[in-house]
Amino acid sequence: FQTVHILGVPFVRATMDEVVSVIHAHVKQQKPCFIVTANPEIVMKANEEPTYMATIQQADYVVADGIGVVKAAEWLGTPLPERVAGYDVLCRCLQLADEHQYRVYMIGAKEEVVQAAAQHIRHRYPHVRLVGVRNGYFDWNDKTIVEEVKQAAPDFVFVALGMGKQEQWIAEHMHTVGRGVWMGVGGSFDVLAG
Ligand code: UDP
Repeated sequence: FQTVHILGVPFVRATMDEVVSVIHAHVKQQKPCFIVTANPEIVMKANEEPTYMATIQQADYVVADGIGVVKAAEWLGTPLPERVAGYDVLCRCLQLADEHQYRVYMIGAKEEVVQAAAQHIRHRYPHVRLVGVRNGYFDWNDKTIVEEVKQAAPDFVFVALGMGKQEQWIAEHMHTVGRGVWMGVGGSFDVLAG
């Protein structure tokens, strides 16, 4: 993909379907992948905090989450084709996982929230293999968590620790696990939990 920079954040010029299709290619090849669905808050934070910018720049694909990003790209004269919202990407990934019985690891949110979100997934996407469901309130230095993720051999790892924390956690751990499409999903488990 071509990239479009907005305040230093490199967005891929890709439609939702194109993004879903590269995600699927990564799963099929079992090649790890880090996706950031960046909204204007993420762009501003990256612009203010060099360490966060460095983390975002480790992503394989940064997609435009929200019409604000699409508008900004247009004003800069480097338009993006469409909005690729985080929650929508998550749902498309769950759909893929349901069609192909892929393995999904969920980490983040409060225990009751992540359990309710998992229950919703079991109901709505019955062929998804949920290989891990864990809340987001753990000790950052607890090495057993990444070991557990690795043992689960996930195709997808959805991380809901809030903006900043989730991207940092992914960047620190995805290479230890060595497989999976990793994505920070912010408040999406709360949405799925209803
Ligand atoms: N969260 C978490 N651990 C933390 C901080 C937040 O699991 O240490 C969860 C929180 O429970 C919520 C999700 O992360 O389900 C998103 O939080 P928030 O709405 O603050 O995130 P943002 O809007 O910054 O992405």
